[in-house]
Amino acid sequence: MEKINRVGRLKRCLLQRSLRKRKIAAHIWLRLEKQMPLLSRYNKHGKQQLRILASRILAKKYFTGVQGMQITPLVEATLATQIAITVFGLQDPLQDRALSWLDNWHEVVVYPTPFIRSHCSSIQMGGSPVGIDSMHDLIEEGETFYQGPLVINWQADEPHELTKQANQVLIHELAHKLDMLDGSSNGHPPLHAEMNEEKWFKAFKDAFEHINRQVNKGCKAPVNAYAATNPAEFFAVVSEYFFESPNVLRHAYPDVFEQLCLFYRQDFSHG
Ligand SMILES: [Zn+2]
Repeated sequence: MEKINRVGRLKRCLLQRSLRKRKIAAHIWLRLEKQMPLLSRYNKHGKQQLRILASRILAKKYFTGVQGMQITPLVEATLATQIAITVFGLQDPLQDRALSWLDNWHEVVVYPTPFIRSHCSSIQMGGSPVGIDSMHDLIEEGETFYQGPLVINWQADEPHELTKQANQVLIHELAHKLDMLDGSSNGHPPLHAEMNEEKWFKAFKDAFEHINRQVNKGCKAPVNAYAATNPAEFFAVVSEYFFESPNVLRHAYPDVFEQLCLFYRQDFSHG
């Protein structure tokens, strides 16, 4: 028992030391409270908890600017706080495990604006790629790799007024990383023990089929039509709505909204 206590004390000591080194400064946190509508939803205690969690994220992850993007203390604190908000409810109430949901990545790469990526189309034969058919450039808002960083652009991700057409690139890319935690990117992150797999599958399958029918008919999709791309993109897009436009999602796909409340363990629809 004494040994466990000593280990616990040592862990707390190391945590406090790393927090002292990287704790988000008071003047920056005050600016975040004023500038981030996503943060203003929380009460005083919630904000204090988020500041600690965001500071821990800053101590563990790297934020790298490319193409002239300057990572100032305000920029990295903004990004760490968005990440903290996304995983805030995933903490086990008895054990602080929120950071374990971020174990499969180390870095956020930040472009100043949307960026260009070259993609190649392959020539298929019998279902297998046998050569490259063409190269084309696409403008990307963000991207995620299995064993790589989250890539975002600041123009889309800096704090902005919440709108009905959700646009939260970092939450989108982070949702992909949560999805990948069980080994595949298929729109199904590891669910909590108290959740029901069948209810999750039915809610997401029905909604995904519905948005694809709407898109194929040329009708307006109830959430960003990009969600119709595949189940992984559907999960990432509805996660953006869950945090930015919860009532739009709740109205469009109530069963999906309910499952996301259970997964993210938060609900902003009454705010
Ligand atoms: Zn995506």
